[in-house]
Amino acid sequence: MSEYQFGTQGQQQPVQQPVPQQSAYAQQQQESVNLAERQMRVRQANAGKRFCRNCGGEIQSGASVCVHCNTVLNPVAIRRAQEIVMDRQAKVTREMLIKSFLRPRKGMKLYKQYIDRRPQVAMPCKKAAIIGRIVRGVVIGGAVAFFLFTQLYPYF
Ligand SMILES: [Zn+2]
Repeated sequence: MSEYQFGTQGQQQPVQQPVPQQSAYAQQQQESVNLAERQMRVRQANAGKRFCRNCGGEIQSGASVCVHCNTVLNPVAIRRAQEIVMDRQAKVTREMLIKSFLRPRKGMKLYKQYIDRRPQVAMPCKKAAIIGRIVRGVVIGGAVAFFLFTQLYPYF
């Protein structure tokens, strides 16, 4: 069919191209397809990324605190980290050493209690307990020896 046809007065007139008219239903469908595609593109772009639940900023997976707003994201990890710092900074006290020296059994108990997490506390307690045991042995042994000596002295 020709692009032009004769009008009523014999002049050539351009034929109106029929504009494809979408139904409201088809339009709605097209819009939801577009939306789905947009969402899919966003999901693909964000695959593997994590976002702060407070400020929405991108954060590293496994992060305990948001680098943008300092929101605590993993309180358990924070507490564990604080415990590790406290364990590292812990120092043996004079009271612990005196107790370990005077009561070697208690000293060994402290050693067992702290050796896993605070070896810098556990080892001095063990040393104090061992020295305490030696000193005890010497003192008790000396006392027994002295006692026996005084008992036996008249017979020498
Ligand atoms: Zn944040």
